[in-house]
Amino acid sequence: MSIESILSEVFGYQAFRGPQRDIIEHVTAGGDALVLMPTGGGKSLCYQIPAIARQRAGLGITVVISPLIALMHDQVGALHEAGVSAAFLNSTLSSEEAYQTEQRLLRGEITLLYAAPERVTTQRFLQQLDALFERGQLSLFAIDEAHCVSQWGHDFRPEYRALTVLHERYAGVPRMALTATADALTRADIVERLQLEAAAQFVSSFDRPNIRYTIVEKKDASTQLLRFIEHEHPGEAGVVYCQSRKRVEEIAAMLAQTGIHALPYHAGLDTRVRQANQDEFLRGEGVVMVATIAFGMGIDKPDVRFVAHLDMPKNIEGYYQETGRAGRDGMAADAWMCYGLQDVVNQRRMIDESPAEEEFKQVMRGKLDALLGLAEATDCRRVRLLRYFDEASQPCGNCDNCLQPPEVWDATDAARKLLSTVYRLHQTSGVSFGAGHTMDIVRGKLTEKVAQRGHESVSTFGLGADYSEHQLRAVMRQLIAIGALQVFTSEGFSTLHLTASSRSVLRGEVPVRLRESSTQRAVKRSRARPATAPVAANLGQDAQVRFINLKSWRASVAKAHNLPAYVIFHDATLAAIAERAPQSLADLQHISGLGTRKLEAYGAAVLAVITGAAHAPSGQAA
Ligand code: ADP
Ligand code: ZN
Repeated sequence: MSIESILSEVFGYQAFRGPQRDIIEHVTAGGDALVLMPTGGGKSLCYQIPAIARQRAGLGITVVISPLIALMHDQVGALHEAGVSAAFLNSTLSSEEAYQTEQRLLRGEITLLYAAPERVTTQRFLQQLDALFERGQLSLFAIDEAHCVSQWGHDFRPEYRALTVLHERYAGVPRMALTATADALTRADIVERLQLEAAAQFVSSFDRPNIRYTIVEKKDASTQLLRFIEHEHPGEAGVVYCQSRKRVEEIAAMLAQTGIHALPYHAGLDTRVRQANQDEFLRGEGVVMVATIAFGMGIDKPDVRFVAHLDMPKNIEGYYQETGRAGRDGMAADAWMCYGLQDVVNQRRMIDESPAEEEFKQVMRGKLDALLGLAEATDCRRVRLLRYFDEASQPCGNCDNCLQPPEVWDATDAARKLLSTVYRLHQTSGVSFGAGHTMDIVRGKLTEKVAQRGHESVSTFGLGADYSEHQLRAVMRQLIAIGALQVFTSEGFSTLHLTASSRSVLRGEVPVRLRESSTQRAVKRSRARPATAPVAANLGQDAQVRFINLKSWRASVAKAHNLPAYVIFHDATLAAIAERAPQSLADLQHISGLGTRKLEAYGAAVLAVITGAAHAPSGQAA
């Protein structure tokens, strides 16, 4: 059976995406591979189709190694729905269940077996693999989330290091490693640690064109968030990232109070609560998960419509990984971040106060600066993001700066006044001060601290009385972003310091051009969407009715199977069915997401729902 027919018959998809075909051909033919694809790019099919093809060719089972125990049940459930024989082995199974699965494995009844790395490397499991290997029934190893092998990645798991045993013990069995982490350092580490020197590397474009990037200036973060959700994504599923557990709790409670179905998720919650909240997010409709970065790896919910960052992440890798969880279904989605001077100061402080080596801190500061540059940018965000991953591109037309080019004002004068105040303060008192005090002096505010220290006599006192504190804050952020000002923290106090590049700004050689504060501009974005899911927004009235009926039918099936609704059918598939209004099984063919097995299992039920909908009150029977 060709890989094309597996794609259409098993998964119901019409065409491969991006480099999928090349990867699948290579691995099906027995080659090793390293696959780098952005989140939502379609990595799963890259090992699932070779697994099915090789099983059908009599080559046996594929072992999928994944650290995501909490998600294996749903991953396997999704394969069952498509008619593929799959199973998982992990610590959530009773020993009886695990035994049954092992027996099925040895009888060759399983095409894909999911297991955690710590399970794979046990003697017991390796002996079972030995038996399969001797019979030529060990077909492929797929190592998912392969960046976990690297301590440079953001999810280092030492168990991954032991996976070299697969290569040594089962020579000739093809291996593929997959990850969404693009960083060159991590990539090199994966190759070395997993001994994939001879593997073909497949690196996709990291662009996610359906995601719209927006970065706004922080004023009152929770109100801004609330407005964003209410205006742009009412009733839709999303993730809100916050820095601390406490803040997660506060924001979740605040959203819940306004009637939004919001739940908290962080590592401090009881495991059962965490799992229950995750299930609710995956299975429910329109749930907003408020979380620390502990949440998200492997979450393959396709219809997450937005990812919001209420605090600034540490670096662009983290930001991109997290925002990538939006819009896996390819439909429009938002990545929205709100950030301010305090974020910059906090992130700097965390680096400065960490016990790491100075060299490591320097790398971290560089990464933070790159993110600051992105946040302060007045040109296309996507061009900058992709450039960070060494990918050249053109302005995208789908980020805040492209859609509404920011107005820019010349802040050179304000910048010079700020910098010379920092300079003079240090000169007169021999110590450095923080942002607030510096701004007070520039604006000529005679605070208690100013008076106590006699700083009203600093020669720049009051020279910037025309600027608002808000403007000066923006200038300060920009100066930090371009490296003309540095923040250092010690013992909880943050102080400002000049850098080598301050001088050229002070001399007026480097113009400082700043985006006009977005909060001062009229909010022109009127993208008020209908309350229905965006995939259904273009459907006619009758089709809307059918879509809603199909969704409620899907909810009952999902519940009965104990699986998330999207595992049964994606919204896009239901929308396509609703639009076509099929009258026979033949009409259902070639709808994306409807493979042979699902057609057999659900075709009749879907037709019954449609027929019912066709007699709905609107009276226009199709
Ligand atoms: P990743 O693991 O790379 O983050 P997934 O494998 O979860 O991404 O795929 C993302 C989504 O894209 C899934 O919902 C999947 O069903 C869908 N998808 C993958 N490949 C195709 C394809 N060729 N055609 C249509 N949809 C696809
Ligand atoms: Zn753009």
